[in-house]
Amino acid sequence: MADLYEKLFALHQSMKKCRACLEEGYEIYPPAVVSGLVSAQFMTIGQAPGITEQEAGRPFNAGSGKRLFDWLGRAGIEEDWFRSTQYMTSVTKCYPGRQPSGSGDRVPGRREQELCRPFLDREIEIVDPRVIIPIGRLAINLFYPKKLKLQEIIATRLEVSGRWVIPLPHSSGASRWHQLEDNRRLIDQAITLIREQREQYFPQ
Ligand code: SF4
Repeated sequence: MADLYEKLFALHQSMKKCRACLEEGYEIYPPAVVSGLVSAQFMTIGQAPGITEQEAGRPFNAGSGKRLFDWLGRAGIEEDWFRSTQYMTSVTKCYPGRQPSGSGDRVPGRREQELCRPFLDREIEIVDPRVIIPIGRLAINLFYPKKLKLQEIIATRLEVSGRWVIPLPHSSGASRWHQLEDNRRLIDQAITLIREQREQYFPQ
């Protein structure tokens, strides 16, 4: 385990020093924002940090975090415990800045995702979580076919390399998807799937 701690620490250091997107001319604001331990059974994967996450150096720090932990709370997962014992990362690790229109944050492009992908692969390899929760379309696309609608994905689970993938929609206030009643029912079902995994790995 000590070896894994060292590997994860070194990986986090590499991420924080990384300027690969800047070097290719992308507007991005390092350092990388990521948190968690090698002993985590659960890993959340968001899209990219927002400005408040980047300033605080903490994933899902703002409104999107509040909604996410409201959902996880209904699965019996408490925020402080989760933040201090589990793992939270994102498809790209640095704040991508605002959209040119100024409305909301920019969605990292395909090349930025490619540049950052080795970090995510390595995080999954080292942490080896039992349950991955991709949050929002960009993270969900890592595991599910892009042609599927969110309505066909949320409330399902997928077994990938011996771990469960249980997706959630983007939890930011900018997303209207989770406000629709039918979709809220799907989120309830996804929370039940997460609860089952929480009860298996962390019975209370
Ligand atoms: S988003 Fe990823 S690849 Fe791009 S600069 Fe940040 S850490 Fe490096």
